[in-house]
Amino acid sequence: MIKNIPDLQEKLHDLLLSQKDSITQGKVAEYIPALAKINPQLMGVCVATIDGNIVGVGDYQQPFSIQSISKVFGLVMAMNRMGDSLWQRINMEPSGQAFNSIIQLEWEKGIPRNPVINAGALLISDVLASHYSSSKLAFLTFMRSLANDDNIHIDQNVYQSELSHGNRNAALAYLMKSFGNIEAEVPEVLNHYFTQCSISMNCQQLAQSLLFLANKGSDPRTNDIICSRQDSHRVNAILSTSGMYDQSGEFAFSVGLPAKSGVGGGIVAIVPNYGVICAWSPPLNNYGNSVVGMSLIKSLAHELNLSIY
Ligand code: GLN
Repeated sequence: MIKNIPDLQEKLHDLLLSQKDSITQGKVAEYIPALAKINPQLMGVCVATIDGNIVGVGDYQQPFSIQSISKVFGLVMAMNRMGDSLWQRINMEPSGQAFNSIIQLEWEKGIPRNPVINAGALLISDVLASHYSSSKLAFLTFMRSLANDDNIHIDQNVYQSELSHGNRNAALAYLMKSFGNIEAEVPEVLNHYFTQCSISMNCQQLAQSLLFLANKGSDPRTNDIICSRQDSHRVNAILSTSGMYDQSGEFAFSVGLPAKSGVGGGIVAIVPNYGVICAWSPPLNNYGNSVVGMSLIKSLAHELNLSIY
């Protein structure tokens, strides 16, 4: 662990410079057309520590589409709302399948494998849509309060793009509904899900917003309890086994941190009792994980000896 902040700044700077050639190894997400327009050269990384330091380099203050990173926050909201009964409708096993795969969901009778694949996040969106009078506003309010920034907003362009290209997510939600595992109407569930995916935030905001997961559920800046210690442990366990989709095994093997990626190119990694790393670079590998983001976090984890295992 580096306690000396100038040293960490220098390390991040060197790491970022060393990534310039890796960008060409990935491709920006095209299946959501609004995401395909992003400049692939943008990249940034930020470390927020529980003792209040923020160290960032590159485009770490440039907002991007958080996409599936939103699944972490939705899960925390649903766990807080539902308690243990949530786990009757959703599992906590790695899927070993692509994030938007439908195959397993029929075999397993509409019970998603875990809350961070799309099927699971749609189930969580149903929980939120069914239990809040305005789940989209509740979600945005939660994000704004964690990031301490009321300017955080939904990118309407991305939202519309997801809505008009969301047939696979609709198929997942209708399949779960056919098994009786979705309460609200499917369009309402999709509306919530696409809204939370379309929020724009930057690396610094995401790293700071997730500090509670590095601090046993409480926000170290305010001492507010965001979730119970047990739920913080459970979320980190799910992120360790499933947060990088069907590359989660490799990520645990080579990095060893609970993490979550999004097809906007962001990756957050939790370092328990230390802080959060957020890396961003839009080009993705075949699993939908940022190529440079993974490489940055991997190098940092090696150099600082951060693996939890
Ligand atoms: N909104 C995206 C989708 O549903 C999120 C996927 C992701 O970030 N992995 O396909």
